[in-house]
Amino acid sequence: MNNKDIANLIFPDVTMTPEEIFKRYPKRNLKEGQYVTRFAPSPTGLVHIGNFFQAFISYNLARNSNGVLFLRIEDTDRKREKTEAKKVLYDVLGRFGLEFDEYQTLDGKDVGNYGPYVQSQRNDIYKVFAKKLVEEGRAFPCFCKKTEGKEDVLKQRESKFLENDEREYDPCRDLSFEEVKKHIDNGESFAIRFKTKNKGDERIKFNDIIKGELEAKANAKDFIIIKSDGTPPYPFAHAVDDTLMGTTIVVRGEEYIASTPAHIELFEALGFKLIDYCHNPLIYKLNEQGNRRKISKRYDPESNMMFFIENGYPVDAVFEYLLNMINSHFEIWRKNNPNLHWREFRFKPNEITTVAPIFDLVKLNDIAKNIIATYPGEELYNGWVKWAEEFDKPLAQVLKKDKDKFVKVCQMDRDDRPKPRKDIYNYKMMKEKFHYIFERPTPKFDEEDKAKELLKSYINSFKMPSSNEEWFNDVKVVAGNLGYATDNKLYKENPDAFKGNIAKACEFIRVALTGEKDSPTLFNIIEILGEEETKKRLSV
Ligand code: GLU
Repeated sequence: MNNKDIANLIFPDVTMTPEEIFKRYPKRNLKEGQYVTRFAPSPTGLVHIGNFFQAFISYNLARNSNGVLFLRIEDTDRKREKTEAKKVLYDVLGRFGLEFDEYQTLDGKDVGNYGPYVQSQRNDIYKVFAKKLVEEGRAFPCFCKKTEGKEDVLKQRESKFLENDEREYDPCRDLSFEEVKKHIDNGESFAIRFKTKNKGDERIKFNDIIKGELEAKANAKDFIIIKSDGTPPYPFAHAVDDTLMGTTIVVRGEEYIASTPAHIELFEALGFKLIDYCHNPLIYKLNEQGNRRKISKRYDPESNMMFFIENGYPVDAVFEYLLNMINSHFEIWRKNNPNLHWREFRFKPNEITTVAPIFDLVKLNDIAKNIIATYPGEELYNGWVKWAEEFDKPLAQVLKKDKDKFVKVCQMDRDDRPKPRKDIYNYKMMKEKFHYIFERPTPKFDEEDKAKELLKSYINSFKMPSSNEEWFNDVKVVAGNLGYATDNKLYKENPDAFKGNIAKACEFIRVALTGEKDSPTLFNIIEILGEEETKKRLSV
C-alpha cells in the first residue's frame, strides 16, 4: 500500500485532478509589464490602515500597468462572525471608491473568471491539491489531536507557526496505510500536514520586489495545510489561490517575511511557479517621547479607515496622503502638477518605500486643506450636508433648512478668490469653525473700553454695506474719527499718535461678530448675519 492509497482513503470524495482545476483557471493573457494584484483581507469587522495601505499599493500597481486588481475574501477562520465583518469591509471599500476588476458581490455573485473570490467557497479546490501532495508523499494525515492529547500545542500549530525555530517533524509523518486506516476506521478527525524536506539548519534566499534579496531560515516544520474542519490555513490557501487566480505580485505586510520560506517550499512541492513578493513595512506612529511604535487598533483611532469617513475627510486627501507614504516623489509631483488627479501619478513596484511610514495627522490635514480649498462653495456645502446626514442629523436639518445661508457660508473667501482660504480639512470641524453662524458668540476683547467705544460709534452710523470696499470705508471713517490711523504707513512712523491702526479697529468688530480674531471676510459675515443680528452683536 502506498501514498496513493492513503490519499484515496482520506479523500474519498476528491475525484478532480489539479490538471482539471487548472483548466478552469486558464492562464491570464497579459501583455509585458501588466500586473495582476489583489487585496486579500480577512474580514475582522474593521479595515485597518495597514491593510488598506497594501490594498492601495496593489490598486496602483494594477492601474498603472493596465493590469488587473481583484478582491479575495480570506474568511477561512470560521470562529469569526463573517457576514457582518464582510459587510463592513465592502462598506468601507465602497466609501473610498476603491474599484476592483474581479470580486464577489455581497450577495454571492462572482464578477470575473477566477472565482469563487471567497476562500470559504473554495474548500473543494484546496483538497484536490492537498490530495496530490499526499499522493506524492509531501503531505500526510495527522491524527495527533485525539491520540496524544496535545491539544494546546496543536491548536497553536493550527493557528500559526510556532515561535521557536526548531525542527518540527510531526509524529504522524510516517504512518503506514494500515495505521492511517485504523485511525479512520475509529472515526478520528485529522488534519493534513505538509512534510518538509528540510533538516532545520538551512537558510534560503529569495527576492523581494522592494527589499531586494532577503535571507531567512528555511522552513523545517510539518505545518498544517488543511485543518481538521476542512479549511486551509493561510500558506496553503495563498499558494493555491494566487497561483490559480494568476496573481503576478503579492503585496503583503512584512510580518509575512519570516514565513516566506515555508511558502516557497510549498510552491515548489506543488510544482507552482513562485510569485513575486512585495513585503511592505508596517505603519508607525511617534509617541510623545518621539519614539516609533506600531500604529495600534487599541490606541489610535486613525488605524481604522472609518475614522477618516466619520470625521469627514475627503477620500482623495486620504489617498494622496497614502501616496505620500508609498512614494516620496509624490509630493514633488503634486507641486509640479497641481491640477492633475492623483490617479495620474505613476510609480513602479521597486519605487515603493522600504522605510516604515510614520502616520502624521498634521500632514494629512495639510493635504486635506489643499484639496478642500479647491471646492467651490456649493460643492463644500453639499459635501457637508451629505456628511452630516450620516454623522450629525440635527446639523443636517439646520443646513438644509437654511440652504441659501449655508451655501453663502461655504462660499466665503472661496468662490471670489483665486487663492481660497485653506482652513478646513474635514467636514466634522466645520460646525465649530463657523460656530458664530450657529450661535451668537460671547466676545472677549483685549482692550474692552476701547472696543466698546469703537463699536458704539460704528453701530450709530451702521448701514448695511453693499460691497467690501463700502464696508471698509465705513469702518475707516468711524475709526478715523476716533483717532485710529487709517494709513498704516503713518501709523508705523508714529504709533503713539494714534489709538491704534485700522486693523485693530477691524479686530474689535471681528471679535464682536464672531468671537474670533481670525475669520473670513467680515463683509460676507455681515451679509450672512443680516442687519438685525449684526447690530445685536455690535452692541456689546
Ligand atoms: N488575509 C491575509 C491578511 O489579511 C492576506 C495576506 C496577503 O495579502 O497575502 O493578512
